Order: sequence, then C-alpha cells, then structure tokens
Amino acid sequence: MQLYNSLTHKKAPFVTHTPGRVEMYTCGPTVYHFAHIGNLRSYIMEDVLEKFLRYEGYDVNRVMNITDVGHLASDADTGEDKMLKGARREHKTVMEIAQFYTDAFFEDCRRLNIKTPDVVQPATGCIDEYIKIVSGLLEKGYAYQAGGNVYFDSAKLQKYYVFNDHNEEDLAVGVREGVEEDSNKRNKNDFVLWFTKSKFEDQALKWDSPWGVGYPGWHIECSGISLKYNGEYLDLHCGGVDNAFPHHTNEIAQSESYIGHPWCHQWFHVHHLNTTSGKMSKSKGEFLTVSLLEEKGYDPLSYRFFCLQSHYRKALVFSWENLDNAQGAYQKLIARIAALQEDGSTVDETVRQEYRQKFLAQVGNDLNTSMGITLLYDVLKAKTSDATKLAILEDFDGVLSLSLLEKAAAQRAKAAAAKAAAQTSGGYTVTGEGDAAIDAQVLARGEAKKAKNFAEADRIRDELKAQGIEIADVPGGAVWKRV
Ligand SMILES: [Zn+2]
Repeated sequence: MQLYNSLTHKKAPFVTHTPGRVEMYTCGPTVYHFAHIGNLRSYIMEDVLEKFLRYEGYDVNRVMNITDVGHLASDADTGEDKMLKGARREHKTVMEIAQFYTDAFFEDCRRLNIKTPDVVQPATGCIDEYIKIVSGLLEKGYAYQAGGNVYFDSAKLQKYYVFNDHNEEDLAVGVREGVEEDSNKRNKNDFVLWFTKSKFEDQALKWDSPWGVGYPGWHIECSGISLKYNGEYLDLHCGGVDNAFPHHTNEIAQSESYIGHPWCHQWFHVHHLNTTSGKMSKSKGEFLTVSLLEEKGYDPLSYRFFCLQSHYRKALVFSWENLDNAQGAYQKLIARIAALQEDGSTVDETVRQEYRQKFLAQVGNDLNTSMGITLLYDVLKAKTSDATKLAILEDFDGVLSLSLLEKAAAQRAKAAAAKAAAQTSGGYTVTGEGDAAIDAQVLARGEAKKAKNFAEADRIRDELKAQGIEIADVPGGAVWKRV
C-alpha cells in the first residue's frame, strides 16, 4: 500500500524490515479516565490499518502499552501524575483505577469492533526493561542525573525535531498546560527517563533502581515495551497527532541512542476530532464517550462509520447532526444489504477478484477509508448475483468491520418474524402479496369473525376494500389480493 509517513513527510510504498511481516506499535491509553470518542477515532483508524495490512497478506504483530504510571498532566514532565489524579477523584487506589479504566477501554473497543492488539502490556509490568535502557543511555553518555532524576540529554543528538511538518499548535501541546521550568534540565528539550524525586508525597507506585526508589517517565514505556515485543526494527508506529511531539520525538531520541541504529521508519498519525467549538478534550464541553452515544440511542458502529467516511489525516468535526447523518446512511446501507437474497447461487469469482483489486488499490492509497465506503455502494449496484455481492461485502467488511452482514441478517430475521407473526394466529393463516400491515388487518378480521363480532369484521373488510384489497375466505384462513 501507499502510506503517508510523518517522518519523511511523503506518501510512499509501505515496506517492512522482514518481507511479509509487520512489526506494529500503538501508543495505548492512559487509564485514569474513560476514553473520549476523539481518542477512539485514532484506535478505529489504526484498527482499519492493521486489518488492511492483514488483508494484503501481511503477518502483523501489533503491540500496545497501557499507561498506568508516569504520565504527568503535561506531556512535558510537569504537573500532576494523571493516575494519582484519577485515584483521588474517585477515592480509589491507583491500581483499582487502572484496572477499571483498562476494562472500560476494551469494552469501548469491543463495541466499536476494534480488535485487541496481539500484545497488550501495562507499563508497570516492564520496569526491568526501562532500567536496562536508562542504564544503557547513561553508559553511552546520552543521559545524566540531576536533582535525583535521570534525564535524556537532547543536546547529544544531531537532529531532535524529526516531525517538523506538524504545525506549531501540535508542537506546543506538550507545554501548553502548566508550564513549569525544571531547573535540573540542561536543555529545554531534555526529558525525564526516571523520577526519584517525586513531587508527590503520595506517589503510590515506586520501584527500586540504580538511581534510587522511583518510577519511569512516560516516554520510556513505549520504547521499552516496543523493543521487548517488536524487536529492534519497528515497521510502523501509530498514535494520535498529539503524540508526535514531545512523546514520539522522545521515543525516537532514546530508542535510537540506545540501540545505535535507526529504529522505526514509518510513522502513522491520526488527526484530531474537533467539536464545532474546537479540539475535543476531557476537560472541555460535553465528555463524549461511547456509553453516552449509546444512551442517546446511537449504535456505536454508526460512529465507526462516521470516522471511516473521512480521511485520517484531516481533522474531523463532530456534531450530533453529523452523527445523525452518518447513522441514517449506515442504517440505509444495512437495509439495502438485507434486501439481497441469500439464494445459494454460486459466487462469481472473477467479479469478486475484480472488486478485491479495486479495494486494495483504492483503500491502499493512504488508507482512503471513504473510498472503501463508496465501493460498498458500487458493489450493491453491480451487475452480478446477490450471492456474489454478499461475498464481496463480507470480504470488505473484514477490513472495515461495520458488522454489515450480521446486521443485515438480523434485520432479515426480524422482518421474517414480524411477517410470520402477522400471518398466523391460533391456526388461522393469512396468505397475501407480502405486506405485513395488511396481513395484520386480515388477521384481525378473522379473529373478529371467530369472536362473532361481525360488525367489526365487516368494517375491516370495507376498509381494506376501499384500499383496493379483496379478501376471500378459505379453509383455515383467508387469502387477499390487490384488485
Ligand atoms: Zn507511546
């Protein structure tokens, strides 16, 4: 596929270190609160990317961390520890908070058809890895100790800002909240690898280290976990565009300094979900979660459909009206698929391959998911059998994960049940021209007759006659037709 790479600022063919194999890493959630639907947009797009690569035939190893320690309120090592903040807010321990919000995150993912990565690693489970890397960085002279903490020395690098196509607003995100100078730092871009001098007396999670009892910085988690489970050559690193600086910039700085060669050659960044009043955040405006969407009567997959309609490198504007439109379109699409007949006819493999090639080319053009959606409508219009259409839609949905066939089957079953209920009652069967509403009226007339309520039976007959419906009584029921 062709994929835009934030590191080179170019769209280029996707390549891997080992042919046929993708080592993929995703920055996971900081589990101190529910994920908002803006965070989940990134996970949806990353999920489609992973499934697309598998559809192309790659063997993918996808790794994700769960941040349960070390992420401070500002991405630039200042402010309060987010986990402590969550624990205090809910009068629980940090580990209770971590477990609760980890479960909540995966429940949201389940409802959005986001596959769980092959490896999910809580940051607190890899302390030895971070200690090994920090020791290595100190030995090589890329890190220094000051004021009890260990810092990465950004002045040792030829080039620190690697994602310089991101706009100033994105670059400033790390220092926007709670600007607070750390006088231990030699250079403004230096960052903490290991904290021992916690500003928080009640820091709950601490481990012994060569530099004293403390805890790891946020950035070292991702390097440690990726090096452990993906190896030294990472093919694809994903995250929200917010993470490009300083988080990903710091990950690259410390990983490459430690291993001594280039680390990850392709970076995939998903852009913001905005509200009509600006960037979505947990602290501003309505806190939009998957549960809230459900409470308001939306199918979470309508939100997935909404995300897939736009390109991951463009900011997407969320409004209830936009979601209504997406939900309406999604439901209509399902209804059209439900109308296809599973008649058991053979699938035309030539047509199926033709569409597979179209999907690979169009979605493979920098993960153009909206073209993938357009192709669904093209399939519905195609001059081929319903069985072939269903087979192609099933192929595509392996990547898009909109539960198209399952929902269509459920809708078909519901319609069939409603029809059966309308046609038969107490041994009295109505046969007509396939209209459940009329079946129900004819059935009501039969019941009225049985109850010897002839006036009501005649009233219904006359009402239907006025609509051009003629009823004939037959043994065990009635038959109706339009005349
Ligand atoms: Zn990360």
